[in-house]
Amino acid sequence: MDFLESDEHRDLRAAVGAIAARFGGDYYVEHARAGTPCDELWSTLGDAGFIGVNVAEEYGGGGGGLVELAIVCELLLRGPQTPGELRSRASRMAPFTDVSTAMAQGLFGKALREYVGSRVTRQALLHFECEQLPDPDNRITIDPKYVDAIGNPRPVIHYDASPYMRRSFAAAREASEQIFAANGIADYTEYKTTDADFVTWQGKGYTFWGAGHIVGTHRMGNDPKTSVVKPTQQCWDHPNLYLVGCGNMPTLGTSNPTLTMVALTFIAAENILKQLGE
Ligand SMILES: Cc1cc2nc3c(=O)[nH]c(=O)nc-3n(C[C@H](O)[C@H](O)[C@H](O)COP(=O)(O)OP(=O)(O)OC[C@H]3O[C@@H](n4cnc5c(N)ncnc54)[C@H](O)[C@@H]3O)c2cc1C
Repeated sequence: MDFLESDEHRDLRAAVGAIAARFGGDYYVEHARAGTPCDELWSTLGDAGFIGVNVAEEYGGGGGGLVELAIVCELLLRGPQTPGELRSRASRMAPFTDVSTAMAQGLFGKALREYVGSRVTRQALLHFECEQLPDPDNRITIDPKYVDAIGNPRPVIHYDASPYMRRSFAAAREASEQIFAANGIADYTEYKTTDADFVTWQGKGYTFWGAGHIVGTHRMGNDPKTSVVKPTQQCWDHPNLYLVGCGNMPTLGTSNPTLTMVALTFIAAENILKQLGE
């Protein structure tokens, strides 16, 4: 997909937009409410050659590709749209910027929901979840220099992307380049050296984000010297204290932790009941 649209794409957009505008949103709503098919619209689109726009001409289609199909679908869903709008949206980091833009406009409540809903539902995200290996240097410590308003230590996070992870970033980029090339997508991805988690690998820059899977700190283990809770989730130092949550996990590869955390919590509950019965 080339976000810099050609003249043909603009013409297609205008032609499909004109049909979409002629029928209008009320047409869909009326038919949806009545449970009747949109025959007139389909006939009009068929007559104009827009049904099967992506099918090869030898099979009676329009000879276009996914871009043409996307333009037809998009216009029928939302009506005319300028190519400039499509370009500028593609070159920003959605959906975060959609929310920022809405907030900057002072949108709130229903208006905010509608604004975000009208944009985010038309976007696709391509991202990669990369595995990390257990790395003892990736850890949380405390430091008397960093305390909160009531004097409690704040977590000091030490985290770096290992060569193993950086290799997977490079592999992910290679895969996305292939996907983009196969679909004619112009790549607007930007990695800035000023990004919080900017790293390099073999001369190329990458930015990575956490998946929100925060684990560790009160980690479990078999050795009180290197862990806070036992495998039963019982605190080594305080037998009457059980800690539950993802903090018990010593490390995390890639995947979502919550189900594992729930399973660990069941173990804790079973052990609390056992302890109460003793
Ligand atoms: C954006 C995002 C998407 C995610 N998506 C998924 C997903 O799809 N699947 C999945 O499995 N996991 C997902 N996760 C991870 C999952 O949400 C967490 O792993 C899980 O919620 C961790 O549970 P927890 O009980 O360990 O910690 P939390 O859910 O963070 O619970 C800790 C609680 O302790 C409270 N607390 C903190 N300090 C104090 C204090 N001093 N006194 C009293 N209370 C305190 C906090 O307010 C919080 O309620 C996602 C996380 C994020 C951020």
